[in-house]
Amino acid sequence: MSDSYDYDLFVIGAGSGGTRASRVAAAYGAKVAVAEEYRVGGTCVIRGCVPKKLLIYGAHFAEDLADARRFGWNVPSCDFDWKVLTDNVFEEIDRINGAYTSTLTNNGVTIINDRAVVTGPNSLRLGDGREVTAARILVATGATPSVPKCPGHELGITSNEAFHLEAIPKRIVIAGAGYIANEFAGIFHQFGAHVTLINRTDVILRGYDEQIRDRLLQISMMKGIDFRFHADFRGIEKQADGSLLVSMTGHDPIETDCVMFATGRDPNTEGLGLESAGITVDAKGAIPVDDSGQTACASIYAIGDVTNRVQLTPVAIREGQAFADTLYGGKPTRVDYDNIPSAVFSHPPIASVGLTEGQAKNKFGAVKVYASDFRPMKNVLAGRNERALYKMVCDSVTGRILGLHMIGPDAPEILQAAAVAVKAGLTKQAFDDTIALHPTMAEELVLLR
Ligand SMILES: Cc1cc2nc3c(=O)[nH]c(=O)nc-3n(C[C@H](O)[C@H](O)[C@H](O)COP(=O)(O)OP(=O)(O)OC[C@H]3O[C@@H](n4cnc5c(N)ncnc54)[C@H](O)[C@@H]3O)c2cc1C
Repeated sequence: MSDSYDYDLFVIGAGSGGTRASRVAAAYGAKVAVAEEYRVGGTCVIRGCVPKKLLIYGAHFAEDLADARRFGWNVPSCDFDWKVLTDNVFEEIDRINGAYTSTLTNNGVTIINDRAVVTGPNSLRLGDGREVTAARILVATGATPSVPKCPGHELGITSNEAFHLEAIPKRIVIAGAGYIANEFAGIFHQFGAHVTLINRTDVILRGYDEQIRDRLLQISMMKGIDFRFHADFRGIEKQADGSLLVSMTGHDPIETDCVMFATGRDPNTEGLGLESAGITVDAKGAIPVDDSGQTACASIYAIGDVTNRVQLTPVAIREGQAFADTLYGGKPTRVDYDNIPSAVFSHPPIASVGLTEGQAKNKFGAVKVYASDFRPMKNVLAGRNERALYKMVCDSVTGRILGLHMIGPDAPEILQAAAVAVKAGLTKQAFDDTIALHPTMAEELVLLR
């Protein structure tokens, strides 16, 4: 193939999906180049999952230090230094960025630190004007924060900039109610900011189980996070003293120091030249693909967030692996999108796999729901009035578990293991047959009533 083209495979975007696809295709012997316009590692490593999770660990110390006193620790009043945390986070990102870069180069992938756009079914143009050709092109350009085009929107930030704030603002307004909005609400709140979350509807975390998200709302409000519901974002105005005035429908304007938009993520296809290969994106800008990731152009494939199917790192990685296995490894593979576990790293976190109670009822009619609503032992001693809630949704005839939904300390860590059982099609009986591991929070999963 590479006799007639510069490369067997040209990947656009060295994020979660693009890195995996390039590395594996190259390991199978393909001649591969990957273009990256920002930093190798992509959203997850550079400005997504990794730095966010590190901030969440950092934020959690606020509660841990307070709770420690109830466990006998004489904790003096502690200061928090945002600069120390973010410097250390950036150092860790640099380390992972280096590791990703060496993995690619060690596998013989050519990294091109530049933007690439498609100019035809087998051709691309790089930012420096160079033209390259490839037998196949893989678009793995991810997604980018979507910001409403309201007056003063340029005064706001997105999650991209949140990691680079000079200091924690005293007051912050977050627009949106998805997982990024709720996670950053928790982060800023724990670091001492007054947080107001404003949302067009009165539903946070659409797609998660109703009782679980209600529990998060109740705990967040109890902690002091403010919510403005049925509020359509109208605009931001800078006031003489430098503060920002946020206006919205249905509520009085709010004065704040920082506004963060967490109002969804749009696939990165603008100016990508896909029309030159006969590819039309959908209304959201996503690239339509079949179940092998192939686009309307036979030589061009797309994976990850740019296809707007499931915008999660492990899914992009799985799609990249399946692409390389199928086309370069002689192992035809399809990604199975059933029972993908997901989490919201709020305070406390949420974790979920499978159908919610509502979805299961719509699909199957009658379902059986088992729940445990409990105060974790650690919270009891700490005097922390936060209850955990675990829910198991089962087929009422076979007992097969259709969904598992949890909110409480370490819920994502616990759910990852339980998700194996749900994926394997196990029943509630299999959980009942398993002896509890005591004393843990996870034991509630085998004691559900
Ligand atoms: C704040 C935040 C928190 C998140 N937390 C989680 C989480 O906890 N768990 C989870 O599973 N997922 C999380 N995600 C989502 C996750 O980051 C994405 O689903 C994942 O990164 C998608 O991988 P990808 O390969 O499709 O794209 P990306 O990782 O976004 O990579 C795309 C790459 O393409 C590059 N690029 C774009 N256009 C071009 C071009 N024309 N030429 C060259 N390069 C280009 C970009 O610079 C980028 O590096 C989070 C996202 C955000 C924003």
